[in-house]
Amino acid sequence: MPTPLSLEIVPVTAFGQNCSILWNPGTRHAVVVDPGGDVPRITAFITEKDLSVDAIWLTHGHLDHAGGADALRRELSTRQGAPVPVIGPDRADDALLSSITRQAALFGLNGLENVTPDRFVKHGEMLEALGHRFEVRHVPGHTPGHVIFHDPESRFAFVGDTLFRGGVGRTDFPYGDHDQLIEAIRRELLPLGDDVTILPGHGPATTIGAERKGNPFLN
Ligand SMILES: [Zn+2]
Repeated sequence: MPTPLSLEIVPVTAFGQNCSILWNPGTRHAVVVDPGGDVPRITAFITEKDLSVDAIWLTHGHLDHAGGADALRRELSTRQGAPVPVIGPDRADDALLSSITRQAALFGLNGLENVTPDRFVKHGEMLEALGHRFEVRHVPGHTPGHVIFHDPESRFAFVGDTLFRGGVGRTDFPYGDHDQLIEAIRRELLPLGDDVTILPGHGPATTIGAERKGNPFLN
């Protein structure tokens, strides 16, 4: 078994989005998932724990998930003296990533920035990080290019705004598709296994089993 990883959730932006800092306590290397904003709070935690960040991962292109990614990349790349790549989501969210400042203006939020990832990810690819292997799964519907990051050995997945405790991601956007989201959750999330813990972008962690049995959107 690989070394169990440590996880800290830093709520960011007015939407209280769960930015996650995942690290290997043995090597102190880390990955930051969905730094939507409030970058000083994220970097303060990284400094406090003396972590070296290997990559920034994005589940999708919404402002509260990706609006701090460019600033965090700049800050960490300078501090660490080497480029820290932004990886993901699927290319289908490129238009959203390029319109974060416009999304932010609609909500009256300042300081969020567009971001161009160093590379997009594809369904089925494996990301090697922190001594673990994370599987990328494409779960469209909330946004066209939404992905999740699944660590099968740890029985854990970052699921962004696909499946929540008792809910699913909103789809009342021009590019949203509720039926597609439910279908993708059934195809890509439920088969991960009832014992898999999932951390959504908002609210508490839950398990696949709890949602398969009790989530009103899946019954
Ligand atoms: Zn979202």
